[in-house]
Amino acid sequence: MQYNQILEDSTGSEHIIEIKDLCKSFDGTKVLKNITFYIRNNEFITLLGPSGCGKSTTLRIIAGFETADSGIVNFEGKDLKSVPANKRNINTVFQRYALFPHLNVFDNVAFGLKIKKVGKKEIEQRVNKALETVGLADYGERYIDQLSGGQMQRVAIARAIVNRPRILLLDEPLGALDLKMRKEMQIELKEMQRELGITFVYVTHDQEEALTMSDTIIVMKDGIIQQIGTPIDVYNEPKNAYVADFIGESNIVAGTMKKDREVVLSSGITFECVDPLFSEFTEGIANLVDVVIRPEDFYVDKEAEGRINGTVESLVFKGVHYEMIVRSDDNIEWLVQNVDPFAVGSRVGLYVDPDDIQIMRRSELSPDFGSFGIRHPGDKSQDTDSKSSSDAAEVKESEAKSDDVEDKEADED
Ligand code: ADP
Ligand code: MG
Repeated sequence: MQYNQILEDSTGSEHIIEIKDLCKSFDGTKVLKNITFYIRNNEFITLLGPSGCGKSTTLRIIAGFETADSGIVNFEGKDLKSVPANKRNINTVFQRYALFPHLNVFDNVAFGLKIKKVGKKEIEQRVNKALETVGLADYGERYIDQLSGGQMQRVAIARAIVNRPRILLLDEPLGALDLKMRKEMQIELKEMQRELGITFVYVTHDQEEALTMSDTIIVMKDGIIQQIGTPIDVYNEPKNAYVADFIGESNIVAGTMKKDREVVLSSGITFECVDPLFSEFTEGIANLVDVVIRPEDFYVDKEAEGRINGTVESLVFKGVHYEMIVRSDDNIEWLVQNVDPFAVGSRVGLYVDPDDIQIMRRSELSPDFGSFGIRHPGDKSQDTDSKSSSDAAEVKESEAKSDDVEDKEADED
């Protein structure tokens, strides 16, 4: 079984939490489908995915506010099933702060400790330390309605860390803040996590937030984990078109591979890449793949043989670089970022370093993603019905794919 593999960590690091085959349905709809991953001690791990993909449900099961239909949550080697939420040494910070408006900042933070009958002196020490950590040392006497959104969120964090949890769960905690405050808090939260030495499990739908803060990102879609990896991994080596599209902007196009380290794009242009054929591919046959190229990875130059030749259709200044849409002669739109501008209407040739070409297995997800929608050779879906391809084959492929994803999760180090 896959979860036995998870117990063996090749790096020898401690897994504070191990989650195995978690399933959950609401009203007959599966919202978590065999969620399996582990959390290392002291890491900042983020569940990332669009609204409704099951992030909060996963978090709530870890916290003990929700029960899984099946599957295991191990915390420090112990099954949490029979441990009530308030005995878990895990605290949660929500987006809606849930503070007591009739209490001042100090008493809000002290509330849990008072209930636990901690001594007055210790309460004072711990609350003051927690307020200091969140940058509110002088705010103890303030009432909640005298605080800004950012300050309220700090109080909510102080109230959680004052319990000295081993794990802090944060469910879109910065979602209610304006952009500037959110950026500041992202950096502060990351610093706080390092300083406190607490494991943070963070939930967000904001890919930039996830890339900024996390040691590890878990990308989810429809109750299934698509990829687990470092921010650099998921950005540079997305496992499928969904991840590539969700994390940053991408050009995702169809291609074929007949042999190792060579991919042919739709118009017949051959590019060198660094990937061998997938194990299930037959050499010499044009095996279908998805090809991801990030906009910033193109070189833009004169048109020439072996390049993606086309016409610049738009040009926008973006500060550090220019963003262009280039329509290639085979009628594909490419999103391109370059420090030098090329005028609208001019002819250009695009090329890419082999390292910057990402090859992925085709999957049922493929047609829906890419900055401009994915395009396939001989595919008429551009102007007609996009659901005309053979569904049966794609369903089969998708099943193969989800097995594959689970294997990868288990292999993840
Ligand atoms: P996310 O946090 O990723 O936005 P959630 O975990 O909150 O997603 O929800 C996953 C799915 O489960 C959604 O379709 C949501 O409507 C549904 N759901 C969550 N909680 C409940 C509940 N208590 N009762 C019924 N449906 C729920
Ligand atoms: Mg949620």
